[in-house]
Amino acid sequence: MQRFENAREAALALRPDEPVYGFRPEVLKADARNFMAMFPGKTAYAVKTNGEELVLRTLVEAGVTAFDVASPGEFAAVRAVSADAEMLYMHPVKAQSDIRLALEKYGVRVIAVDHEDEVTKLSRVVRALDLDPGALTVFVRIQTKGSAAYELSKKFGAGPAYAVELAERLNRAGHKVGLCFHVGSQIQDPDTYERALASADWVRNRISFKLAGLDVGGGFPAEYGHDPNRRHREMPSLEEIMSRLRADLKEYQFEGIPLVAEPGRVVVARAFSLIVRVLLRKGRRLYINDGIWASLSDSWTGKITLPARFIPDPAIRSRNGNENNIVPFKVCGATCDSVDILSRPFWLPETVDTGDWIEIGHIGAYSLSLRTRFNGFYPDTFIEITTPFEEGDVPQGFASLETMAAE
Ligand SMILES: *Cc1c(COP(=O)(O)O)cnc(C)c1O
Repeated sequence: MQRFENAREAALALRPDEPVYGFRPEVLKADARNFMAMFPGKTAYAVKTNGEELVLRTLVEAGVTAFDVASPGEFAAVRAVSADAEMLYMHPVKAQSDIRLALEKYGVRVIAVDHEDEVTKLSRVVRALDLDPGALTVFVRIQTKGSAAYELSKKFGAGPAYAVELAERLNRAGHKVGLCFHVGSQIQDPDTYERALASADWVRNRISFKLAGLDVGGGFPAEYGHDPNRRHREMPSLEEIMSRLRADLKEYQFEGIPLVAEPGRVVVARAFSLIVRVLLRKGRRLYINDGIWASLSDSWTGKITLPARFIPDPAIRSRNGNENNIVPFKVCGATCDSVDILSRPFWLPETVDTGDWIEIGHIGAYSLSLRTRFNGFYPDTFIEITTPFEEGDVPQGFASLETMAAE
């Protein structure tokens, strides 16, 4: 992989027409180690956030030994980079054949359920493979309420009373039983984990046996940009969220049992930026070479504001306007699809023009893992960048803001 100090150097050397992912392995390692140092239990990286081989390999180098996986593709991706990494199969709804594959071929011994039919599927596989039920830790996923960019309890999780019933049933079957939840991605309310712990506590107080573990899931927020025209909703730093979580775990007396977290976004967001090119400027509209069907769907559906840095093409000799005047542009994606228009503008210097580049920062999570081959566009060019996105010249703009103030 070609290496550059920063995106500007890369753009001017390569003059890329296709989107380029700028990978920062040292940032990834630092963020993974930082999380592991702060969380008082096992850290299982959520592979769906970004399952690229180079990401998984770098995480293994950083000392990550456990991965949250959901599918045969993810089992194989983890095994390809580590012969002995532990896999936690935390998807609550699974094909029976996938459960069998996980237990038989990949040695998975930790699994999540939120319904009795999932328990039935699991029991069939355990019997067919003649496994000792006591070798399996089964986490009952409980519903939680909170505020996040993505709510997940609408889709998954057992209500507290039902969770008690499932836990008892799993215990009778001879399994070790834990509780898990996932508060949703990119939480927007620092009380979220405490509320979830209160639900877990409610369930724990009504079961007849000792819990084998508590898995607090993901949801830890990554740092993104914010709309300069809107009142900024201050979120505490990860350090503060973690210190509060540790205090809450203690208060609810969960610190004595094995703890797990499944961070995705907060580990990998800062590890990538994306260099896109302006294919055409038409008034206050920019047509770029990426879009909602490639790397930008998360900022679209999650209403996430990403920092952006303008990389002017030096070949453009004359420009209109003032480079210090930051204005909103409507952004159209690369495909012929009329839906492929970002729901939020990019704020950039008014001088931006056809042929310029934009570096979009903090885009490691739910970007390239969600890209499609729609219309034949599939960004797949990677370079290494040695300087963190935040360093060097200040990003002037923002990609995808919450409001189009000028509209
Ligand atoms: C997606 C997912 C995660 C990761 O969530 P982040 O918000 O990216 O940290 C963790 N656990 C499960 C079960 C998930 O589905």
